[in-house]
Order: sequence, then structure tokens, then C-alpha cells
Amino acid sequence: TNRTFTMIKPDGVESKNIGNILQMITDAGFSIKAMKLTKLSVEQAKVFYAVHKERPFYMELVDYMVSGPIVAAILEKDNAVADFRTLIGATDPAEAEKGTIRAKYAESKAKNAVHGSDSDENAMIEGEFHFSKEELV
Ligand code: ATP
Repeated sequence: TNRTFTMIKPDGVESKNIGNILQMITDAGFSIKAMKLTKLSVEQAKVFYAVHKERPFYMELVDYMVSGPIVAAILEKDNAVADFRTLIGATDPAEAEKGTIRAKYAESKAKNAVHGSDSDENAMIEGEFHFSKEELV
């Protein structure tokens, strides 16, 4: 499809980069179809990251994702999932291509400023996890 789901993670909000990150997203040609500032509960974060539950960093990831507010959004563009992954860069900002969101604004591999869905199927699941139909423009 032509949609993806993103979150500006707690470190991106804390470092006052909501505006900078949204500017990069819209400059790259994405349009915002739904958006909100919210705070995940431990239960929500566990469900959202359930695919990582066997990974050693799972509880660290959950604790971090509930440590402060996030911005959740559904974005639209041709080739949205792949193009957004390119825009955010590698998971570890030290490995992220220059000019990507994570190269500019992420602190570390764990605190990496943004999330981007990794497939069309997950974009749909993650978008529906955070937004009802009525919240989409
Ligand atoms: P995302 O799914 O958030 O866009 P990603 O696909 O780049 O990230 P994954 O490998 O799916 O990365 O990991 C999910 C998230 O878990 C990462 O974005 C990061 O916040 C956290 N994470 C990944 N690896 C580590 C690690 N070694 N230590 C701590 N946290 C990690």
C-alpha cells in the first residue's frame, strides 16, 4: 500500500525535535493522514513490540517506550514503507546514512528517535493499533 506508520519515540520528543522530524517527513513528500501525542502504557508497549519478546533488550525497549510521550502518525506516499525506512536510516545512528532522521536526531541504538513500519502488513496493524477510522483524514 501507500501508507506507513511512525512514532517519534520518547527521546525525540524529550530532545525537542518533534518539529524538526515532522519537517523532514513532510519535506520528503509524506502527507500526514493521522497524528497524535500520546503516552504508551506498559501493556500497549509490550503488545506493540511482542515480536521482540525473546530478544535480550525487550524489557529495556518497553521501559524506554513508556518513559515519556510519543507522537504516533500514519503517513502516506508512494512506496511509503521503503521510502520511510530510507528516510530514517539504520537502527544504530552510528551506522545511519548522513542526512537521515536517525543520523541527525537519534542518541543511540536503543534511543533512536523514530520508528518506521517494516512491511505493508505491519504498517496496517500498527496504524490500526493506534488509530480508529474516524481519526484518519
Ligand atoms: P523500528 O522497528 O523501531 O523502526 P528497527 O526496525 O530499525 O526499529 P529493530 O531491530 O526492529 O529495529 O528493533 C526495534 C527497536 O528496538 C529499535 O528501534 C530500538 O529502539 C530497539 N533496539 C534494537 N536493538 C537494540 C539493542 N541492541 N539494545 C537496545 N535496544 C535495541
